[in-house]
Amino acid sequence: MIVFNRPPFTGNEEKYLLQAMKSLKISGDGEFTGRCHRWFEERLGCEKALLTTSCTHALEMTAILIDIQPGDEVIMPSYTFVSTANAFALRGAKIVFVDVRPDTMNIDETLIEDAITEKTKAIVPVHYAGVACEMDTIMDIADRHNLFVIEDAAQGMMSSYKGKPLGTIGHFGTFSFHETKNYTSGGEGGLLIVNDPAYVTQAEIIREKGTNRSQFFRGMVDKYSWVDIGSSYLMNDLSAAYLWGQLDIADEINDERREHWHMYYEGLKVLEEKGAITLPHVPEACLHNAHMFYIKAKDLKERTNLIEYLKAHGIHAVFHYVPLHSAPAGMKFGRFHGEDTYTTAESERLIRLPLYYGIKPEEIQTVIDAIKEFYV
Ligand SMILES: *Cc1c(COP(=O)(O)O)cnc(C)c1O
Repeated sequence: MIVFNRPPFTGNEEKYLLQAMKSLKISGDGEFTGRCHRWFEERLGCEKALLTTSCTHALEMTAILIDIQPGDEVIMPSYTFVSTANAFALRGAKIVFVDVRPDTMNIDETLIEDAITEKTKAIVPVHYAGVACEMDTIMDIADRHNLFVIEDAAQGMMSSYKGKPLGTIGHFGTFSFHETKNYTSGGEGGLLIVNDPAYVTQAEIIREKGTNRSQFFRGMVDKYSWVDIGSSYLMNDLSAAYLWGQLDIADEINDERREHWHMYYEGLKVLEEKGAITLPHVPEACLHNAHMFYIKAKDLKERTNLIEYLKAHGIHAVFHYVPLHSAPAGMKFGRFHGEDTYTTAESERLIRLPLYYGIKPEEIQTVIDAIKEFYV
């Protein structure tokens, strides 16, 4: 069986975990959390990195940071994970879904401006598959309309847009270390990037249950107290230690994934040339992290058959998001602005192929061969 995903594991996790366990400081903001924070701040060149319990929680923090009030509107693609929308719906926002571009499955930047109303508070671009949205256009729209930009970079660690790491372009960036992502903190975990220094203190307060504990520990206030709303968004230090075992060799993981990705691309190119399938497109401005490799079949029926065919050949391939605007909560908390030209139709064509750190080239070749057989 060629499985769809294996959580990244480097072998370094064990020693760091043990070290963390013996440190007598295993709650949030311990030794390994500090190491990870410094790594992200240096590597991404961002103002502030804060490890969180998940990307979902990092997104929730941004909804509090930008003071979302009931009735505010937040623009995002419908083709995304539930958390992108849920984090804002939780604070009473109306979600305004905009169509995606068929080439990248990212929000179509040319449709955003038309969806803006006087209630719009933020735009949430999702960098699908670790390939960047058209950020220059999005930041320009946000500047002109005085909107926040929160990058859902859950899939985008180590990716960049015009040389800028994803998550560092908008006001805030959020990442996931869930076991299905390129780097994991042991199953669940996330990261909030704060790019505007004006929001750093409040982000720390929200993350620490609404207290100014971080300032207290830095000696900036002489006692700590409840100063605002917040929740318990800190990652425990064991998870950070696990993550550190991967950041240690982050480039190696990234390089290997990119080789896998290119092997799929080269191997399946003939099928695209024959018009049988569509391969992912990476715009020139984007350097991506090979978070996933997907192909698009002709339609839903062909996709279902292909997934079945691969399963019968011991290969686990999966489809991805069911668009949020057609989900029960999506209908309740959101609306689709404009035409759904591509979101539903393209999402029904998409299949994700097995890709993870440690997958063998022979396994990739087996998948390529099976897909070619299906299309003869
Ligand atoms: C994985 C993912 C999330 C959620 O991440 P968690 O860490 O599981 O909360 C949010 N948005 C996108 C686009 C994702 O891929």
